[in-house]
Amino acid sequence: MTIKLFNTMTRKIEEFKPLVAGKMGFYSCGPTVYHYAHIGNLRTMIHNDILKRMFIENGYDVHHVMNITDVGHLTSDDDDSGDDKMERGAARENKSVWDIAKFYTDEFLHDYDDLNIMRPTDMPRATDYIAEQIELVKKLEELGYTYEIPDDGIYYDTSKFAAYGALTGGSLSGNRAGARVEFNDAKRNPTDFALWKFSPRDKKRQMEWDSPWGVGFPGWHAECSAMSMKLLGNHFDIHTGGEDLSRVHHTNEIAQSEPITGAPWVNYWVHFSFLVDKSGEKMSKSNGEFLGLNAVRNRGYDPMIYRYFILLGHYQTQLAFSWDAMDAAANGYKNIIRRVADILTDSAPDKMDVEKYNVWHDKILSPVSDNMKTAEALVQIQELLRDKTTNASTKIALFEFIDRLLGLQFIDRAKQLNDAESETAPAEIVALANERATAKAARDWARADELRAQIDAAGWTVVDTRDGTKIVKKI
Ligand code: AMP
Ligand code: ZN
Repeated sequence: MTIKLFNTMTRKIEEFKPLVAGKMGFYSCGPTVYHYAHIGNLRTMIHNDILKRMFIENGYDVHHVMNITDVGHLTSDDDDSGDDKMERGAARENKSVWDIAKFYTDEFLHDYDDLNIMRPTDMPRATDYIAEQIELVKKLEELGYTYEIPDDGIYYDTSKFAAYGALTGGSLSGNRAGARVEFNDAKRNPTDFALWKFSPRDKKRQMEWDSPWGVGFPGWHAECSAMSMKLLGNHFDIHTGGEDLSRVHHTNEIAQSEPITGAPWVNYWVHFSFLVDKSGEKMSKSNGEFLGLNAVRNRGYDPMIYRYFILLGHYQTQLAFSWDAMDAAANGYKNIIRRVADILTDSAPDKMDVEKYNVWHDKILSPVSDNMKTAEALVQIQELLRDKTTNASTKIALFEFIDRLLGLQFIDRAKQLNDAESETAPAEIVALANERATAKAARDWARADELRAQIDAAGWTVVDTRDGTKIVKKI
């Protein structure tokens, strides 16, 4: 099937052509592990996962690299100043930076797994690739792209790279200068950035390494160039990240890499739009207040509902998060689960209808392959559920495919629902349900509601069906 993606570099939706037939290599910028990931970061991770699953379902062998940034990411990435985020996280929690990195990497992966995001093929940590980053800076130095600012670091001279800024349209006038309050006067050009930062003279850093230029730590952008080239080669298919990364981080990654590779480095740049709050404010860790997946869990939502909520939007559009929107997503998701559960218990299993399977398979895969229109695929899924001419076995096989493509675990949750429904409620819950039925018969709605709430609090739900009242375990 044809795959199309919006390429930030050309500002066009383009047909994907692999570098090597049947293979797709991609690099996605991963988390900075100084705090919990917020649900905005996780939105980006979910889109990465859909991109990957879509390629796999189209028959590609996918090599996915995602870095873990555990060093050298300053609070003001735009001008290489401010505190190191990792050291700040360590000070906040009175732990070592190494402990902070380990703890938040584990927490991140817990979220990753709970959202059913496929683990990357490689997940390199920046601190494991210091030698490669030093090598990168050395090469750039040999090629004449660097200069030193005493007591500060080794900088990249962006005026030496003719294509600088191509990713954002080539126009970088006002880039940073507008947003910044102070400006590092020692830089030759406002867009120049640090490749290697020196450790401060008066303070010992917890993470620092020897280098040909003195003790210090790599600039934030160095790791992605060094690790992607090491693991994916000098030329690979796709590079992704959140929309904030194109202007500075990815622009600088290109400037660091292309003088070395001597040719285009990445073929397609894919950027995911932000998750914002109701007032359009971007969710961000440095804001202090942010929602992580724990907030979603603590409110009783299955993380799959968050995943479903994200797939209702398109990756090129900002998406506004609210608990109301989550409730709407929960209804939609549970509705599908309910119907899949019914299909699973269909007592007359019939032979799979290959023709129907293929038709629906393509109807669902094609919108996702066409610039990742997941919401359209979800509409097709509703159509499939309504289709009376497709039998249960075929629908089940299709849902197995849908679960591989969208990772929404429909079958798994539907089985859980069926199991919960077959479990018999304990006597005290049955007694409460009977009392509720009596209250309802007496039209005492307030009492009936009160009893329903009690049953609910005990982890059960009363469902009024055409065949009477059922008591089912909540999942
Ligand atoms: P960080 O942990 O800050 O390095 O970010 C990890 C990834 O999340 C990067 O690809 C960011 O571009 C992305 N990201 C940051 N904030 C948001 C947001 N509000 N919505 C979606 N993605 C985001
Ligand atoms: Zn990166």
